Amino acid sequence: MVMRVDGDRLWARLMAMAEIGPGVAGGSNRQALSDEDAAGRALLLSWAAAAGCTHHFDEIGNLFITRTGAVVDAPSVLVGSHLDTQPTGGRFDGVYGVLGGFEVIETLNDLGIVTEAPIELVVWTNEEGSRFQHSMMGSAVWAGSLGLEAARDLVDVDGVSVGEELDRLGWNGERATSPADHDAAFELHIEQGPILEAAGTEVGVVTDVQGLRWYTIELFGYPAHAGPTPMNVRRDPARALGEIINGVYELAAASGPDARATFAMFESEPTSPNTVPELIRARLDMRHPDEATLDALNEEVHRIVERSSTRHDVGHRITIDNHSPPVQFAEQCVSAVERGARSLGLSSQRIVSGAGHDACYVAGHVPTAMIFIPCDDGLSHNEAENISEEQAEAGASVLLHAVLEAARSIRRL
Ligand SMILES: [Zn+2]
Repeated sequence: MVMRVDGDRLWARLMAMAEIGPGVAGGSNRQALSDEDAAGRALLLSWAAAAGCTHHFDEIGNLFITRTGAVVDAPSVLVGSHLDTQPTGGRFDGVYGVLGGFEVIETLNDLGIVTEAPIELVVWTNEEGSRFQHSMMGSAVWAGSLGLEAARDLVDVDGVSVGEELDRLGWNGERATSPADHDAAFELHIEQGPILEAAGTEVGVVTDVQGLRWYTIELFGYPAHAGPTPMNVRRDPARALGEIINGVYELAAASGPDARATFAMFESEPTSPNTVPELIRARLDMRHPDEATLDALNEEVHRIVERSSTRHDVGHRITIDNHSPPVQFAEQCVSAVERGARSLGLSSQRIVSGAGHDACYVAGHVPTAMIFIPCDDGLSHNEAENISEEQAEAGASVLLHAVLEAARSIRRL
């Protein structure tokens, strides 16, 4: 019989975790480095201790829970995700990847399976970036993409810093972890989008993560009275913005199914309903899994902004606030996920992640892949986020098989 995890136990753990820092509408509110986040980790650690695991924190509070292998010092297989949530988060974003990883450990214990490599379950600190505004903070520090001090200096709206909270909670570990300590990594996650559900596919085999660029587009006009000023003498940045929005959305629609463009956060000055604005500021989020295409889209965005600004005689400034290159996962890990799904008789499809995950930072240093399962209506970052017990079991069973392959199992008699 093909090995599977214990779906009932996994579901019970998910529901128990959701009771910690409960939200107002059935979800969870366990923001990074809060008392609720601490209580969630304490619950996991109580289960981990009962399962015979050891644990340690690194300097940024990433929690590593270890199931030892036959070769104690061998590089480990890393599984996990995050337990922190959005202020109005669901029960599964991140949590599913952590508890799914822990379920793999418990299943191996139940079956008396020894692996050559140790298995490490990681709980990354502050993935959400809502209380302290740097998403994937813990994995970024671990990967060396963000300095420890810069991360410790981040403050929340009350002026409390990450460093103060790490010290208060005792998560300021001393052991530096190194990417070299790991052989392979797998992150299990809900899709947070509608593609798998629409296709009726049980497992998403994630091959890439979209690269993204964030732009601030500023358009400078000439303020004038909304009544007496004829249309043909105005220098109105709103007219240019209208064209820019249409142009960029048409560009995205013409750039294939993986291109995304999103305008948001519109501001205008002066704040008056009866004055032609002097300034309009808008943000644009542009995504694509291919860096060369992202470059081409970038050039086209600049061209569209220049053309519309010139036509309407307004000034413009484009600032790129964030540039995350696309991530390609390692083929040996991607195909291990695929083999896992096949051996379990589950339908699967290769998929690109539209959202960033801790696995993006891990993938820069360790061969990595992600496993997605569908979620109801593709809904996430919402307390109504939902999956079924069967879906949860399926994804975690795929993780079990991928981990067994990577950690080289030795069946104990
Ligand atoms: Zn997440």
